[in-house]
Amino acid sequence: MSSAQLTILGSGSALPTWQNSPSGQILTLCDKSFLIDCGEGVQITMRRLGVKTARLYSVFISHLHGDHCFGLIGLISTLSMMHRTQPLHIYAHRDLEKLLRPWLDYHCQELSYEVIFHHINPRKQEVIFEDRTVTVETIPLKHKVPTCGFLFTEHHRDSEPIKRYAYCSDTLFTEKIVPQLDGIDVLYHEATYTDEHEHRCKGTMHSTARQAATIATKAHARKLIIGHFSARVDDHELFLNEAQEVFPNTVMAVEGETIEL
Ligand SMILES: [Zn+2]
Ligand SMILES: [Zn+2]
Repeated sequence: MSSAQLTILGSGSALPTWQNSPSGQILTLCDKSFLIDCGEGVQITMRRLGVKTARLYSVFISHLHGDHCFGLIGLISTLSMMHRTQPLHIYAHRDLEKLLRPWLDYHCQELSYEVIFHHINPRKQEVIFEDRTVTVETIPLKHKVPTCGFLFTEHHRDSEPIKRYAYCSDTLFTEKIVPQLDGIDVLYHEATYTDEHEHRCKGTMHSTARQAATIATKAHARKLIIGHFSARVDDHELFLNEAQEVFPNTVMAVEGETIEL
């Protein structure tokens, strides 16, 4: 039996609004917690929701736009104030280490634990983490800077998969990812815009809710979660309605909510 859960820490895009913080999710698989993206304010939401940081095993950063990584330095510092001792593994493009090192050297000279960076190549589909029960693979995406999603597979010890969750943000609509996602249990796909703003997708390299639902349909997904909503749209029901016209089993990522996968 799987006990997979996803807690939404933020589901907005680059401009924070009163109803949305930038991206962040906690995925719990086999009693291990994985943080996926860490926008500004993620640690505040984690505290508010009582997320147990002792179980936080590693962090996966999709790309280096600020709405996906500005929260990291604060979180790293706080974990030290909470006397964390186990190492924190961060999987990201190599530039993240280059950017964070000076901050760590300046502000976090006496961390209570070790931060270990794992450099990933977002352009390549490859396994970047594997233990007895969980495998994580990159999903190359199309965005303004090197970006990848993450495919988490929970499996039995005999390696038979029992649950698959894919996180795809940020990206222009691309069917290239469909084969890798085929038969996915739960797909999170960014839905920055509604139909009304579709013309913005190309320039910003984002997707609409309808396009996210098209990917879910083509990938034969069981369930779709949409998020990364643009601050241009106040009524989030519009995202949901447009996605559900294509893929009925769609839900919205709502900050503070936990979804059973
Ligand atoms: Zn973003
Ligand atoms: Zn981005």
